Amino acid sequence: MTQMTHRKDTRAVKVGSLTIGGSDEVIMQSMTMSKTHDVDATVAEINRLEEAGCQIVRVACPEMKDAEAISEIKKRINIPLVVDIHFDYRLALKAIEGGADKIRINPGNIGKRHKVEAVVNAAKAKGIPIRIGVNAGSLENRILEKYGYPTADGMVESALHHIKILEELDFHDIIVSMKASDVNLAVEAYEKAAQAFDYPLHLGITESGTLFAGTVKSSAGLGILLGKGIGNTMRISLSADPVEEIKVAKELLKTFGLATNAATLVSCPTCGRIEIDLISIANEVEEYLQTIKAPIKVSVLGCAVNGPGEAKEADIGIAGARGEGLLFRKGKTIRKVPEAELVDELKKEINILAEAHYAK
Ligand code: SF4
Repeated sequence: MTQMTHRKDTRAVKVGSLTIGGSDEVIMQSMTMSKTHDVDATVAEINRLEEAGCQIVRVACPEMKDAEAISEIKKRINIPLVVDIHFDYRLALKAIEGGADKIRINPGNIGKRHKVEAVVNAAKAKGIPIRIGVNAGSLENRILEKYGYPTADGMVESALHHIKILEELDFHDIIVSMKASDVNLAVEAYEKAAQAFDYPLHLGITESGTLFAGTVKSSAGLGILLGKGIGNTMRISLSADPVEEIKVAKELLKTFGLATNAATLVSCPTCGRIEIDLISIANEVEEYLQTIKAPIKVSVLGCAVNGPGEAKEADIGIAGARGEGLLFRKGKTIRKVPEAELVDELKKEINILAEAHYAK
């Protein structure tokens, strides 16, 4: 696989208390589903997302009442807030005034020069970045005419056009996304963007689909990019509860060794030797591990045949046996536990390991 180092070589851009770019960290973000002007619902959704591990949250801002809600939302949440605006610079100004930590707006779509300048000056004054969101589905007509249809080169040209507008106003706190629902197109566009400029990249496969199909599609595309060292922040777009987007993002980062404080589950693929209700146990343990913020490897095996030895790397694990199970650590059995108590015992052991990690 071609190794690129774009991720670390990007400009570091501050978003609230976080920094996107300039390091190997990939920040997970999601977007709320509630109407932004419904402050209670939006705050509740953001808090749920934060609990799931979401580090930055974005809200849609189609109307002035949404922009006006930003200041109230900001008072009641802990993670940086991004406000997503299309075209209307007055919404951008209101959102910035309300304390947005970043706005997503394409400067080339704002219109007259004085409007662009007003937005850029407001962002500068507050020290917040602007994300340029290039989308294959909404490229400028002149680019579509030039290339005939959405292409990676056309998307990069669009990004450079918006970047130039900001750079000419001496604005450099820029983050760029190059989304497409076609995985190959998105991958090519991000690869070309990584060659074309050093602003941090926000990864995403847009309109990727339902929880099942969208997870596969997003992981396929983003996996290629993450594996090449491209991408500083990402959103998995799913037609599902946004919390699911964070779960998928977390799992993807773990797969690439990019999540430092997350627990991993290894579970056997099941076969006819199975001695316990492995599928529901594995799901229960997986859910439990979402709350653990320590790099613990947990193994759940259906039987003891190849059992503990097969999961030597696991910090803690269980293997099913008739009516009872084995609890093992680093490949060695530590005790037998009745089947009914197996999961609880495992959770206790996980907690002990997590506490030891937090105390470090
Ligand atoms: Fe089969 Fe046991 Fe291996 Fe699971 S751990 S796949 S049940 S042999």
